[in-house]
Amino acid sequence: MKRTNKLAIWAAALVVAGLVWLLYPAQGTLILEYHKICEDTSPYAVAPAEFDKQLQYLADEGYTTISMKEYAAAAAGQGVLPAKPVVITFDDGYDNNYTEALPLLERHGMKGTVFVVSGYVEQYPGYLSWPQILEMQRRGMEIGSHTANHVQLDTLSPDEQRKEITESKAVLEQHIGRPVEFLAYPFGGYTAETEKLLKEAGYAGACTGEAGLNRGGDKPYALKRVYIPNSRWGLWEFKLRLWRAIVFTKLGL
Ligand SMILES: [Zn+2]
Repeated sequence: MKRTNKLAIWAAALVVAGLVWLLYPAQGTLILEYHKICEDTSPYAVAPAEFDKQLQYLADEGYTTISMKEYAAAAAGQGVLPAKPVVITFDDGYDNNYTEALPLLERHGMKGTVFVVSGYVEQYPGYLSWPQILEMQRRGMEIGSHTANHVQLDTLSPDEQRKEITESKAVLEQHIGRPVEFLAYPFGGYTAETEKLLKEAGYAGACTGEAGLNRGGDKPYALKRVYIPNSRWGLWEFKLRLWRAIVFTKLGL
């Protein structure tokens, strides 16, 4: 065989091996990051029909929704996760999480986690009320904190950060009557100090906006999430975002 032919065969084998490696499912928990579920041109809004298609895709692919609490328990060695776990999270606490997202999740037998800005509840139009939050909790949704005033934590002093994370935890717990143990960072911002403050305040974990899957040994206060914005190219864009997270995880990014 000619030397060039051999080289071509080797190159083809390498490409195939690379593709198999990339496409082989990665182990880890997928955490999705949504905001509004409504018809809106905002990049933060996913249309209900699109959200429904995404949930159907997750179901077809064999994903099972879990809570942040279930993820953290399994990471601590208590409890076993399903084969393909996914946490569906919503930031800010919009009322369409109750009116649009909840019924769709229920139709697919799924659940999610809402990271509420405690200072926005019943303060501005378009945000959740306390009765809606309680009703969501009753119907299987998990409530987390998105701070008291939606300020980017890495722009604050440690004292100001402490106030944002402890105040929101206390206010939410007072209303829902359950421990609030997870937080999502507004704008994804946090500092080395934030982890210490969260631990002191009694949080078990926190979510960033960095793409990737989460494995038990990962840093609990820097959990990765896949951001799902208003989709321009339909379900393909959603699939590409999941695939990118899997590839990032495999490459250790
Ligand atoms: Zn936010």
